[in-house]
Amino acid sequence: MAELTLDSVTKVFDDGGDDIVAVDGIDIDIDDGEFLVLVGPSGCGKSTTLRMIAGLETVTDGSVSLGDRVVNDVKPRDRDIAMVFQSYALYPHMSVRENMAFGLEQSTEMSKEERNEVVEDTCELLGIGNLIDRKPGELSGGQQQRVALGRAIVREPAVFLMDEPLSNLDAKLRSSMRTELQRLQEDLDTTTVYVTHDQTEAMTMGDRIAILNDGELQQVATPLEAYHRPANRFVAGFIGDPSMNFFDATLDGDTLDAGDFEYTLSEDTLADLGGATDITMGVRPEDIELVDAADGHHDFPVTVDVVEPMGNENNVYLDLADTSFVGVVSGQRIVHQGSDAAARIPEDAIHLFDRKTGEALH
Ligand code: ATP
Repeated sequence: MAELTLDSVTKVFDDGGDDIVAVDGIDIDIDDGEFLVLVGPSGCGKSTTLRMIAGLETVTDGSVSLGDRVVNDVKPRDRDIAMVFQSYALYPHMSVRENMAFGLEQSTEMSKEERNEVVEDTCELLGIGNLIDRKPGELSGGQQQRVALGRAIVREPAVFLMDEPLSNLDAKLRSSMRTELQRLQEDLDTTTVYVTHDQTEAMTMGDRIAILNDGELQQVATPLEAYHRPANRFVAGFIGDPSMNFFDATLDGDTLDAGDFEYTLSEDTLADLGGATDITMGVRPEDIELVDAADGHHDFPVTVDVVEPMGNENNVYLDLADTSFVGVVSGQRIVHQGSDAAARIPEDAIHLFDRKTGEALH
């Protein structure tokens, strides 16, 4: 079994007498065969978490377990874990074959013939069978990344750890490698922890995503749960592109007063607020409908400030008095800059957060 359990895992670095809490007591249970993506902004503690799982960094507090075994004090090479880095870390003087066989020579009792067979099969699996005798310098970035993956795969580890493995590839290749990696992980059925700051990778690749901010775990959920039911304002703003619009509002009776506009809430929504009055209202741009004119409680007259064509969609930047926000409309739709329209915000599209704690209320 290769369940991976992080129990109150903490990392404190000593920076010349100052304590830096890079990872602050995080709990994550990763199932056998699961693809978990660790995502968050730069400096949130993703790499440090991964390095603690790998054994490249000591754990200050808490425990990392693989199956039933706490591995805090187990050396990296004895953890049955293989790591793939952003930099590929290939040996330049060795061929693809030698690079991939190297780890096997160090850690298994396989004969040379058996090693060769495993390496050749893995190269075929990764579509680099024809490159097996080349050196890394004679390969493209994408091909080098496949070799780096292959080196991890041949070892048949219990867990793969990947630290931004696609970030050195151009956008197109990154997107095709994303799909390929996902398929590969499904076929191999190996527990995988994948670090990225790219929310598209997180949303498309992970069975579940763990969102970190400032060393603290914000939410562990399926990508769709994190999108539809973010645990707090941070997650709501981090997941989704363009980001969710936020409006500071105060609850007065059944009405949210957001300064430039008022929004009436139903009984059911009010019940979720549990008496909180200082609210942040959130609306995803794609949940805003642009209509010709206001015609109801939840329609607001706006002026179209900027139209940003994205191909199949247009981002429309809207002004409602001094409040600005963004909506998304179909790319087929012609919207003129400077024109008057109305933003329709259905009640089932709104997210409400406690303004002080950021916690999701509705
Ligand atoms: P990025 O996406 O930029 O790589 P990250 O989320 O992976 O960021 P970490 O590299 O884990 O973040 O760093 C988390 C925090 O710990 C940062 O504030 C970083 O400066 C700090 N940190 C990391 N390594 C050390 C170290 N060896 N000594 C002191 N502080 C460190």
